[in-house]
Amino acid sequence: MNGRVLYIAGTGRSGSTLLARILDGSDGAFAGGELRYVWQRGLLEDRLCGCGEPFSKCPFWTEVIDRGFGGAAHIDAQSIVAEQRALTRLRQVPRILTTGGGAVSAEYLRTLSKLYRAIAEVSGCELIVDSSKLPSYGFVVGQVPGLDVRFAHLIRDPRGAAYSWTRTKALPDANGAMQQMSVLKSSSLWLAWNGSARALFGDRSRYRVVRYEDLIARPREVVDQILSFAGHTAESTPFVGERTVSLERSHTVAGNPDRLQAGNVELRADEVWTTALGRPQRALVTAITTPLLGHFNYPFAVKSGPLRDLTVPQ
Ligand SMILES: [Zn+2]
Repeated sequence: MNGRVLYIAGTGRSGSTLLARILDGSDGAFAGGELRYVWQRGLLEDRLCGCGEPFSKCPFWTEVIDRGFGGAAHIDAQSIVAEQRALTRLRQVPRILTTGGGAVSAEYLRTLSKLYRAIAEVSGCELIVDSSKLPSYGFVVGQVPGLDVRFAHLIRDPRGAAYSWTRTKALPDANGAMQQMSVLKSSSLWLAWNGSARALFGDRSRYRVVRYEDLIARPREVVDQILSFAGHTAESTPFVGERTVSLERSHTVAGNPDRLQAGNVELRADEVWTTALGRPQRALVTAITTPLLGHFNYPFAVKSGPLRDLTVPQ
């Protein structure tokens, strides 16, 4: 069985968990969360699945691991984590670009192939949504034989993302809180990750840019466009109103703690940052992210009102 994967690339705090959950609610699509974490946070740390059970007790993941690998005892998760870390470090991106990613071992690609195929089989879905975000990992997934991978590059105004990074949220699957980051660090990360995603996928036909702000402004239209780009026809989506989706808990590995909540969610523009992020911080984020801001048609001076249309591949 050949699987089809929609890979969501981008940085944290850009709405990837929300987008993945909306896609998960579309029939024939399954969003497994940030699949690169199956080994570390799933098998090794036994954190909570989106269904509320620990990974080892979740019936979905137990079946995936059984079908794909003959049980957790047959997986050397430590080695997989080590290889994955070495392969996908951001500083590897220039090497990936010059060598075409030739250093990925056949064994590691086989492991990923087993994982994604087992997810497709157990979920019974034609489309798997992987919101792992990390561009270099997406590049590796794109090399798995037999997988048809399409890349949705989800991007958010870096000043909105930076403000979100300064705030904290409880993280129930790890008895702690979500990571916080200074605006300096988060905007450097924004530039590095989004620059890498563009460099790695930007010249492919299977690449599409999705701005978080467009998703929030025209949710139904943008979700339909993403599904069609993923080659998927869904008879139903979770929209119960123009801007409201009914979300169910699903079997997701890692991601924003919102994944553990279910019910109706109204999609609203989160513009608190336009006033709450101080002027010097805003100027700092703008200065750091300037090389890419214009590319995605974000204004240099923050103002309210609709964004200019995207002119990059979409
Ligand atoms: Zn589960």
